[in-house]
Amino acid sequence: MSPAEENQATLQLVAGDPAREALVVGRVVIVLGEEPVTLELGVPPGPVAFEDVLPILHGLTDFVVGRGVAAAETEGRTVSCRAGCGACCRQLVPISQAEARALAALVAAMPAPRRDAVLRRFDEALQVLHAAGIVAEIDAVRHDDGGAPRDLGMRYFNQGVACPFLEDEACSIHPDRPLSCRQYLVTSPAAHCASPSPTTIEMVALPARPSQALMLADCEDAVTTWLPLIYAPGYAAEIPAPARARTAPDILRDVFSRLEK
Ligand code: SF4
Repeated sequence: MSPAEENQATLQLVAGDPAREALVVGRVVIVLGEEPVTLELGVPPGPVAFEDVLPILHGLTDFVVGRGVAAAETEGRTVSCRAGCGACCRQLVPISQAEARALAALVAAMPAPRRDAVLRRFDEALQVLHAAGIVAEIDAVRHDDGGAPRDLGMRYFNQGVACPFLEDEACSIHPDRPLSCRQYLVTSPAAHCASPSPTTIEMVALPARPSQALMLADCEDAVTTWLPLIYAPGYAAEIPAPARARTAPDILRDVFSRLEK
């Protein structure tokens, strides 16, 4: 191993349960921004659904965010996001189809009283968004690669609809939150998040955007590039499985190839 390789960051990421099945292991080097990073991966054998590899993408995204935060701190900026501040959890959160199914499964596995409360919040939020015409607007643009237009995002935010997973202004599914949520960190004053705009919000710049890479790689039906988190249970009920199963290495190669600077 060369000195450069010895100093290279290495991430060990696993999807699947090694106690239940022998995982396929592999090693791959990806470049995040300018930085080569070695990934030592363990994945389930055989065909899987996209959502089965999400734990690997969660870990990779957390690493990417860590690099972004470190760079911001080097510039003298400090992340202002804190537990108990859920202002950004009233935004339109774009997720992939796999994340929609994973979130729906998470809700379905909750104990009955909690599950019912969360599903009720989804219903109530959708009613508000329907009445405001936001659902129709989302449906008109959610096939586009570029994500939600900013003005639609603002109209969504102005409805004041909290994410159904927001409890006491904190994320109640923090370890399982979507990639978009993981990537959203600001260094501008927290008070600005109550009325976000490009001039008042200073985001933490990231060396790669795993959420976008996932959404594009997961767009198998060529109809849904992204969908709002608030659609998750309804979408998963409508399309409970991906159009085709692929192997985990195939899925991950696809996602990694779409990581952009
Ligand atoms: S999933 Fe969690 S972090 Fe994401 S919008 Fe909902 S409450 Fe906020």
